[in-house]
Parts: sequence; C-alpha cells; structure tokens
Amino acid sequence: MGKRSLQYFTLSEIEPRVWFMLTGCNFCCKGCFRPARDGGGILLSAEETIERMERACLNYYAKVPSEAMITGGEPTLDKAYLLRLLTGLREKGFEKIVLMTNGYELGVDGDYVHELEEAGLTEAHVDLKAFSEDIHRWYTGKSNKPVLRAIERLNASRIELLVQTIYMPGIVDDAEIEKIAKFLASLNKNTRYRINPFAPTFAYEKVTRRPTLKEMERAYEVTSKYLPNAIISRSCYREYPTPPPQKTWITVYPNLEVRRRGMKDQAEERLSWLSRIRPRESVVGDWKREEWDFKLRHRLVGISEAKKYVVKEEKGSGSGPVKVKFPLALHGLTKTREIELDFDGSTTIGAVLDRLVEEYGEEFREKIMDQGNINIKRSFNVYLNGMNIKNVQDIKTEVHGNDEIIILSWVSGG
Ligand code: SF4
Repeated sequence: MGKRSLQYFTLSEIEPRVWFMLTGCNFCCKGCFRPARDGGGILLSAEETIERMERACLNYYAKVPSEAMITGGEPTLDKAYLLRLLTGLREKGFEKIVLMTNGYELGVDGDYVHELEEAGLTEAHVDLKAFSEDIHRWYTGKSNKPVLRAIERLNASRIELLVQTIYMPGIVDDAEIEKIAKFLASLNKNTRYRINPFAPTFAYEKVTRRPTLKEMERAYEVTSKYLPNAIISRSCYREYPTPPPQKTWITVYPNLEVRRRGMKDQAEERLSWLSRIRPRESVVGDWKREEWDFKLRHRLVGISEAKKYVVKEEKGSGSGPVKVKFPLALHGLTKTREIELDFDGSTTIGAVLDRLVEEYGEEFREKIMDQGNINIKRSFNVYLNGMNIKNVQDIKTEVHGNDEIIILSWVSGG
C-alpha cells in the first residue's frame, strides 16, 4: 500500500526533535493507553509525511532537526512506507532515528530488520510485554515468539536496541521480569532494558493497579543481577540528561494546524477515547487523584541512578563546574546550547544568573528576568537537577559543583 495514517507530529521544546504518531496497531493490549491504536489521522505517503514534517519544523525551529522518533500505534505495519520514510529522513539530514515498536512484524518478516538497518534506522525501542506465551497472548492477542525473534535480530544488527516492559502487579511482576532479564542477558548482557510502571488511569482496561515504589525497586534489583544497563522509569523522563517535568509540547496536525498541548489536553484526548468503555466521571476522578504521579516518576528515575543522586544530595560535595543548558529561545544570544561555569564552593541560582549576565550581557537579564530583576519571567522555567526552582527557594536555591541547570522557555500561543 505504501501509505500510513498520521495523527500528528510532536515537536520538542527542549531541543529540535520530532515525533511521528502513526495510527493503527496489530496488537490489542488490554492496558493500552494510546488512542492512536484505533486509527484516525490522515492517510499519507512517506513523501507527503516528510514534506509536512519539514514545513512544520521550518515554521517552528527554522530548520529541520537531526532527531526523529517514529511511534504510534504500531509504526511497522507497512514496510514500504516505513523504509521510504527512513530513507527520506536520512536524505534530509536526520542522524538519529528511533523506532518505537512492539516488534511483531520484525519477527514475522525475516528481512525486515536488515532492511531497516540499510534504510538508516539507528535505534529501536521494542516493547516486550511478557516472556510467557500465555500471558503475552492473553494481554496482546498475539504470540510473543515473533517479538523474541525480532529482539534477537536487532541484537545481531548495528541498530541500537532498548527493550522495555511494563511492570503490572500480579501479571508481569518480578518472576516474569526475571525471565525477560535472563533471556536478554543470554543474547547480550549489555542490552539496555527499561521497566516502566503500569498506569491504570488511562489504560484501555484496568487489568491491575499501579505498582508501588517498593515493587519497582525489587524489580530493579532482580533485573540488575543480569543486566547492568537496566533502568526504571517512564520514558518521557528519560529523554533528557536530568528529567525536566515538561508540562507542554507542540503538536502539529497533518493539516499543519499547530497547538500547544499539555497534560490536560492529553487527558481530554484519552478521556474521549475511553468514554466508549468506561464512565467518563470515573476516569476524570482517577486523573485528579494521580497528580502525585510526578513525584513517583522522579523517585523511580532515582532508583537506577541512586549513586548519582546521593552525590547530588550531599551539599557542597561536588567540585566540578556547574552546567547550564539553554533553550532554543536563547541560542541566538548565547550562541551555544550549554555552558560550564566554575564557582568557588556553593552558590545560588541568582549568582549563576549574574554570571550569565556577565557572559552574555544585560540583554540576557532582560530576556529572562522580570522588571525588578527579582524573579524569573513566567515564560521561563529553571530546573536544578530536574527540580523546578520555584518548588525550592527560587533564585535563592543553593547550587553546588557538578549540578545541572536547565532553562526552558514556554513558547506562547500555538
Ligand atoms: S500498547 Fe502499543 S502495541 Fe499494545 S495495542 Fe497499544 S499501541 Fe498497540
């Protein structure tokens, strides 16, 4: 066929990076939380998809980015489309292209992985829902044999591999995850493996509850015996060096309409999807109760990075420079994406900002501080090691050597 339905592109506000959300899926996962699996969007050829992506990126970034994430739904359903999309992206200069897949088609078609490699795919994230055939069939409606084969083939290719599993208490818990870890270690003990917690709020069926922090810690202990590169967290909190709690993102629809969307919009989208099977009030109630989710996610990131976090918590222990990362909105002024600053002992965010004014002039202060130079403007957020300084002591927040500061700008409109 050579065409796929595109629901939308998502553009990152942190650095130039584009997601392709393709609709339709060959699995029927009971806990699926992606409306894209049920179709919708606009049917496009790979060339049309690239042409619209290019226009969207030029409008927003004034250039075509070098990183793409192809996701869905399931993006592998039409091989001809996917291969042409990859080739086209490489021709546009994309250097890192990540495919997020359930892996099934890559295991059914013996040539698929090799063809993806040849077309320029650099990384694959494969969801392995379960190791036991009966659990996999019950949960997805399909055998996991092709998925296991896909993982073997990807492991033998030049494509970087990340395998992911959702921890589902009583269904896919320690015992099942240990089987997966053993299987992956038998292929390559350096395989990157990520365990995410089940989130019942927007699941198609609430097959189980959210795991506790203790259960996730236990899963990490079991896994890390076999796989030193195992990590625990939600994916969106892993895409950044320290995870900023991103609250909005830029969605561009195939007709090139742009919307700045946030968690509330995403919730609305999922509510309307789920309203077919669950009373809307119950989903709204769940959503409100789960606002604490943000804290849990950060603690989960901490489980597999405990060492790094302990160092950061020991005040004044870091002796290295303070790293500051700038948003695109400031690149014109800073001419760089990040800078390292040395301080004698601990300091404060305010002092770091003063140093940045010395580096980049008063224009820098005018851009990010409000009129009295007391607060950061509402259009910017500053994160210290992933924590918004507004939740600490604002510009009086202490900063230590080796800390990382990320400045984000929230673009208005859209
Ligand atoms: S979770 Fe992923 S693989 Fe499963 S039905 Fe949903 S989109 Fe498809």
